[in-house]
Amino acid sequence: MKEAEIIEMLKNTGVIMEGHYLLTSGRHSSRFLQCSQLLQYPGYAEKICLEIARPYRGKGIQTVIGPAMGGVILSYETARVLGARAVFAEPAGETMILRRGFWVKPGEKVLVVEDAVSTGGSVKKVLDLLKLHGAETAGVSIMIDRTGGKVDLGVPFTALLSMEIESYPPEDCPLCREGVSLQKPKG
Ligand SMILES: [Zn+2]
Repeated sequence: MKEAEIIEMLKNTGVIMEGHYLLTSGRHSSRFLQCSQLLQYPGYAEKICLEIARPYRGKGIQTVIGPAMGGVILSYETARVLGARAVFAEPAGETMILRRGFWVKPGEKVLVVEDAVSTGGSVKKVLDLLKLHGAETAGVSIMIDRTGGKVDLGVPFTALLSMEIESYPPEDCPLCREGVSLQKPKG
């Protein structure tokens, strides 16, 4: 899929919303991302996970892991494409852990997936978890890199889409100046 097709799919499914949004930080933005919107359509999830998996095909990936919640469906569908096993990690205090009897073995080749990264915090915690279990991180595949390539995960990663989402303090917001009505996106 070409980048333009991916963007169109993300807009059509309501992942990329364009307007005038109040972010939880208090800043305003013309864009808001809601990745779960895409994952409510299994047909689209399949298409996007084919792309997420593409760079890692034939690389001997044994397991795909993602941080909950964003990585739950993504890890499952990407694992299906790669013929691998799927698990997800869950937050526990400042770390991510495996619950529900999930496991990764020492030396196991694991691909990490995530829907969107801004600071990359959840992905880094999953990488720490894999290190702790002695697994081999085969790569990190992200649906949307919200930093436009600026995030440092400490390991190489691929992103389907890389876009920097600009935000403004309310007193310096061009959309406010244009009189566009402000919306609060549903979390
Ligand atoms: Zn504004």
